[in-house]
Amino acid sequence: TPNVRPLVAGNWKMNGTRASLDQIKAMAEGVKGPLSEKVETLICPPATLLYVATALCDDSPLAIGAQDCHQNASGAHTGDISAEMIADCFGTYVIVGHSERRTDHAETDHLVRAKAEAAYASELTAIVCIGETADERKAGQTLDILKRQLSASLPDVATAENTVIAYEPVWAIGTGLTPTTTDVEEAHAFMRAELVKRFGAEGQKMRILYGGSVKPSNAKELMGVANVDGALIGGASLKASDFLAIYRVY
Ligand code: PEP
Repeated sequence: TPNVRPLVAGNWKMNGTRASLDQIKAMAEGVKGPLSEKVETLICPPATLLYVATALCDDSPLAIGAQDCHQNASGAHTGDISAEMIADCFGTYVIVGHSERRTDHAETDHLVRAKAEAAYASELTAIVCIGETADERKAGQTLDILKRQLSASLPDVATAENTVIAYEPVWAIGTGLTPTTTDVEEAHAFMRAELVKRFGAEGQKMRILYGGSVKPSNAKELMGVANVDGALIGGASLKASDFLAIYRVY
């Protein structure tokens, strides 16, 4: 999208111990340089590594974020973390509504929207994930699903500053399968039109990431599709060499 700085983001999911901090260190070094002015980078490690990861990125353009937050500011929610806690660890982003959260924890669009609002309250940028399942795609419902998820998961106060959309076809996550570039282009053009309808000029600037089996070998093609403003990367973000290779397709 013209005049939009793409975002290359990694989601480590439930992977990573202190030993993995070497990878974050290598990424923090690897993204230094002029390309970082054109392309933003982000890693979302597990919450246990957040604070130490941000310390490693002190003098690097690599941003650090979390993979989820609770919708409430604080209180009796054993095992959850709040947006304030993420911000307190110097995290600047939080992923909300990832399909694995929607499935494993029965998260609804309504809840995802509340989580995005919680993120804004702590000045975090929310990465709101949406995407159709294999059955929904087979039934020809992809665009209907995207329309519903966008409409119900995004708060009215979403802006290009506080919100990033991640389109992740559920059947493409962790499977090695990807949609054709024609399918990606159609989905992203549709989401762009929906965002502009609702948010006007902000919707024009809002970044829409593609996610689902992005790797160094297919990143250039996928990132070249119209209205694809970066990637959300799972598996290939665990290794600094893969993550940096994807960053460098720009
Ligand atoms: C993800 O879960 O956000 C993802 C895109 O995973 P992978 O790249 O491993 O398909």
